[in-house]
Amino acid sequence: MATDIYESRESQVRSYSKNWPASFEKASGAYQYTEHGTRYLDFFSGAGALNYGHNHPELRDLIVDYVANDGVTHSLDMKTPAKRRFLETFERIILEPRNLDYKVMFPGPTGTNTVEAALKLARKVTGRQHILSFTNAFHGMTLGALSVTGNSMKRRGAGIPLTNSSKIPYDDYFDGDIPDFIWLEKVLEDSGSGVDKPAAVIVETVQGEGGLNAARLSWLKALADLLRRHQILLIVDDVQAGCGRTGRFFSFEEAGIHPDIVCVSKSISGYGLPMALTLFRRELDVWEGGEHNGTFRGNNLAFVTAARALELFWSDDAFQNELAGKIDELAEGLAKITEHVNGATVRGRGFLTGICFPDADTAGKVAAEAYKRNLLLETSGPKDEVIKIMPPLTISSEDLHKGVAIIEDAVLAATGQSDEPSRLRAPH
Ligand code: PMP
Repeated sequence: MATDIYESRESQVRSYSKNWPASFEKASGAYQYTEHGTRYLDFFSGAGALNYGHNHPELRDLIVDYVANDGVTHSLDMKTPAKRRFLETFERIILEPRNLDYKVMFPGPTGTNTVEAALKLARKVTGRQHILSFTNAFHGMTLGALSVTGNSMKRRGAGIPLTNSSKIPYDDYFDGDIPDFIWLEKVLEDSGSGVDKPAAVIVETVQGEGGLNAARLSWLKALADLLRRHQILLIVDDVQAGCGRTGRFFSFEEAGIHPDIVCVSKSISGYGLPMALTLFRRELDVWEGGEHNGTFRGNNLAFVTAARALELFWSDDAFQNELAGKIDELAEGLAKITEHVNGATVRGRGFLTGICFPDADTAGKVAAEAYKRNLLLETSGPKDEVIKIMPPLTISSEDLHKGVAIIEDAVLAATGQSDEPSRLRAPH
């Protein structure tokens, strides 16, 4: 075999390519194709950056036309028609119908960039340093975002103390035995508690990397109410759960809360292009010009596809309603699969979902068996004990069922029950 350039040259830091050694050359909708033409069904969706599937034809053609016309590609924060159209479309289709008067900041191209901007802004607005985040949270890999992340391996990577933040229990951390906000409420009201009043609390409505824990809507509402009473800012990190992943455009809509700051990235471009937004209440716009900047804040190809994706999928309720049906179908399929394994449970919300196995090693085995059957899905959770299921939101019912049947086969194989009859495949 020829020298493997990845082994010989690329850093060991890579991870996905170690579990999925195939070389993917082409992609369309819910499928990726290797160099040798083998087809894989994609229930990974670029970790949530490909909510509308790979290479949506209309978005692809817009990029081709834009480039062929010498449209500006890179623009820092200068004005371009592509950026104007994105801002106007975002205001018209997303903000105004939801009564959200957010200012829009372009913080740099990635999820961790929007989290850093949110933390900085919360500290600047309140004049306080401390940020609270939740057990098993994941917010990104730069130092500020890592400081509010839970995972100990990722935190160790920082190589320095991660300070000015503390962890508080996420919903159901104590299995419902202890009232949810008993500690937070008490220390905020007790001037002798020794706990500095935080600038903000940052939360994911569903913990995508931390094990697909989904906060109850009532818990989110109670959190928002508590923070408002104490003038602490609420930051929702919607980097993974947003852009339709849980069923509505923002994952917090169903809870009826209005966060002070919202972090958006991953699927906002609609095409897998780097792009992020930090949204905040108009009164919080205390930045000085250039106080937070970055070379790649003006990705015009992303502006072009993002504006059109909003028009295609969010200008009325049709897409959301169709998605709701598929969310039910997926939940039903996963519930049936859990019947094969004692103690297995369905986690998450919407199309940000998964199955947690009582034996932590099972999830990795299921993902490996799924890969053997040409299905891509990854694991999640502090012990990688959960299989994470993120089909494109645009997937057909037929492909959704195909994927669920493969997951069932993979679970049976991984748990040594390959002779068990499938509950999901039609009898031959
Ligand atoms: N926040 C959340 C909730 C995420 O899931 C992620 C990425 N998995 C990030 C932030 C960081 O995004 P990025 O990898 O683009 O920096």
